[in-house]
Amino acid sequence: MTDANRAACVIGFPVSHSRSPLIHGYWLKKYGLPGAYRREEVPPEELTAFLRGLDEHGYVGGNVTLPHKEAALGLSEPDAGARAVGAANTLWLEDGHLRSTNTDVEGFLSSLDDDVPGWDQDLETALVLGAGGAARAVVYALTERGVPRILVANRTLGRSRRLRERFGDAVVPTPWDALPEAMKDAGLLVNATSLGMTGQPPLDIDLSPLPDRAVVADVVYVPLNTPLIEAARARGLRVSDGLGMLLHQAGRGFELWFGVRPEVTDELRALVQAEILKD
Ligand code: NAP
Repeated sequence: MTDANRAACVIGFPVSHSRSPLIHGYWLKKYGLPGAYRREEVPPEELTAFLRGLDEHGYVGGNVTLPHKEAALGLSEPDAGARAVGAANTLWLEDGHLRSTNTDVEGFLSSLDDDVPGWDQDLETALVLGAGGAARAVVYALTERGVPRILVANRTLGRSRRLRERFGDAVVPTPWDALPEAMKDAGLLVNATSLGMTGQPPLDIDLSPLPDRAVVADVVYVPLNTPLIEAARARGLRVSDGLGMLLHQAGRGFELWFGVRPEVTDELRALVQAEILKD
């Protein structure tokens, strides 16, 4: 394959909402690289055949979005991170093998590192809201950084317990109605539920029990300034929004497919932000 027809794609069902073509298209142009990044709408029953024929479709790899992240794990050779999280979002062909990883983990960490340098220093307790796919990536990321105590509060407490089985004793399943008490110790609060996202119910919590040094992060990025981020800013807390995670998770795939480690610039952030505002 020549550089000119080197291509990657985002595979989803539906896939029209994906911001990935905007992000990768920006980087291809910025670095003057030949190649393309396209959307591929693939229904679940066609995913296996599509991934087996990825190179015949002209692709060196791609991103995987809903509802295919778990299935893609089983159809590829995942790295340790993807296996731990139980989902893959980035695929690439290497010596004829379809490899995968989960870049939400590094996306979350790089975004926090950028927005709040030193956020993990002396961090004893983090409080994660949610126990779905995004929460698994966040909790794994926090265990990787060595956070000793990770309280996981979720509407369905059984799913928090499964995160403890998956990630070990640092994870402490926490009932939702215990949030005010749990917040008192939390140096980091992360919303990894879909609450607060446009079209979803609001995330209705009072941040006043959080210590003044606490950092608040939201994985939700539509709207960009979620009520949680606004409430945290109003309390004078340091924040990290979900757009940073989205942009930072994209870099590894771009490097694997096109050979350049791209930069998350203010210009890229403004471009994607403008697109989100159109929703
Ligand atoms: P998911 O696997 O479906 O999990 C959804 C989570 O939200 C679960 O913990 C669920 O609780 C909770 N939830 C949903 N509706 C609720 C309600 N009415 N009341 C209380 N809890 C509720 O979804 P996901 O893939 O983790 O995605 C979650 C959010 O993360 C989405 O907004 C997504 O866009 C965002 N995300 C952002 C990035 C990024 O790069 N910034 C990356 C990945 C995901 P139950 O377990 O009780 O159902």
